[in-house]
Amino acid sequence: MSSPLYIRMHAADNVAIVANDGGLPAGTVFPDGLRLVDNIPQGHKVALEDLAEGAVVRRYNVVIGYALQALPRGSWINERTLRMPAAPELEGLPMATVKPPALAPLTGHTFEGYRNADGSVGTRNILAITTTVQCVAGVVDTAVQRIKSELLPRYPNVDDVVGLEHSYGCGVAIDAPDAIIPIRTLRNISRNPNFGGEVMVVSLGCEKLQPERLLPAEAPLLPMQRLGTAPALPAADSALDVVCLQAEEHVGFMSMIDSIVRQADVHLQRLNQRRRETVPVSELVVGVQCGGSDAFSGVTANPAVGYATDLLVRAGASVMFSEVTEVRDGIDQLTSRASTPEVAQAMIDQMAWYDAYLARGLADRSANTTPGNKKGGLSNIVEKAMGSIVKSGSTPITGVLAPGEKLKEKGLIYAATPASDFICGTLQLAAGMNLHIFTTGRGTPYGLAACPVIKVATRSDLARRWHDLMDVNAGRIADGDATIEDMGWELFHLMIEIASGRKKTWAEHWKLHNSLVLFNPAPVT
Ligand code: CA
Repeated sequence: MSSPLYIRMHAADNVAIVANDGGLPAGTVFPDGLRLVDNIPQGHKVALEDLAEGAVVRRYNVVIGYALQALPRGSWINERTLRMPAAPELEGLPMATVKPPALAPLTGHTFEGYRNADGSVGTRNILAITTTVQCVAGVVDTAVQRIKSELLPRYPNVDDVVGLEHSYGCGVAIDAPDAIIPIRTLRNISRNPNFGGEVMVVSLGCEKLQPERLLPAEAPLLPMQRLGTAPALPAADSALDVVCLQAEEHVGFMSMIDSIVRQADVHLQRLNQRRRETVPVSELVVGVQCGGSDAFSGVTANPAVGYATDLLVRAGASVMFSEVTEVRDGIDQLTSRASTPEVAQAMIDQMAWYDAYLARGLADRSANTTPGNKKGGLSNIVEKAMGSIVKSGSTPITGVLAPGEKLKEKGLIYAATPASDFICGTLQLAAGMNLHIFTTGRGTPYGLAACPVIKVATRSDLARRWHDLMDVNAGRIADGDATIEDMGWELFHLMIEIASGRKKTWAEHWKLHNSLVLFNPAPVT
């Protein structure tokens, strides 16, 4: 792209963003006669008209701020020259008022997945070792390395072995009301569809989060042999499979390791008997997220993801969008798009809870934007939110999940989570995510051990430099080489290839795995 180009999101907008790689110098004249007063970096906003002090600044046809000083046409508009609007009230919102036209069902699309006894479908076949407390992490690490080198080569149908390590489990106020969030997150992650219903636990012994509390008996485990797929193997004990490091039987470190490896072998035998089968795309549980966002996120990658979200919902799949602080400023768009007033109210309840949580820490939603967001052209959280929400596409929002809850329905779901990439990903895994879509403008090498993460670059410059980290280049939309619709379909087809195991993501190729990070709003002790 050589000729000067700006991108305006809506006819009513009085700012647009500079699209050219490297930005444009002062004096640049656009084909329509607009002349830049300042040097403007790529992705940053230019005033399309003279703005008086206090004038409304509009992008996405939404007020993203007020001019702090008079800014002539062609000026650079950034966080230093904008005052952020107040957060929208949570009262008097439009409730389920918008009825988007029903989109035609999308039929005939399938992928090859691992069907589980509880009806869910995995996209990978992974042995997960659940841990009750951080104290056991080093031991589990050592055991996992040994399982990978000694056992895994004998089980070619198993993709990986993962220790579900975390910082929770002890030294925490475990009876505080909000402790339910980290506890149910861990519980539900251990039952992620990619783990085949095989749950094994490593516990220390003296920790507050005892195995029975983490995985109570009333929620039965679903061992593979109930499907009748493993007749030759001994039936799994209905009791929880726990290796307790403080148990009397363990004399020395190697005894602990041997015990974990021995138990892992039992689960690996069963996992190894799993086979992929053809299942409808409706079995996908896709979590969408963005991180390291820039002004292109809402122009290229997120609209393409939104298009793919609509395709998935039309095909009967589940799509979760999340990140409370990144949708809070567009709450009216969301409550109006809810399928029922009850769904709208559930969203408001989640936002209100999060407002109170932030207020308790003497913070507000403006704590969200990062130096990188601002460098990428996003002046504040209002502007960031408008770009973030478009990942949710255009269909009605049919369900709401509180943090750490497990998803039980299909359709477009608002899964309330913090916007932190790792906490959001962890909570979406707990909800049952079997495929993750992650858009980034600044660039992040994010990956998860439990689930494939498809990374979408918002700009061609990032896609070029990070050619072996980014799976999709949505920057082609800004370059004029692809439409949002093209990219949406490309993503949809790539999701099927990756879900089926026919392709790997770059994060899988390089084995890039970020840690699970629990959301623990309760006190530590
Ligand atoms: Ca994020």
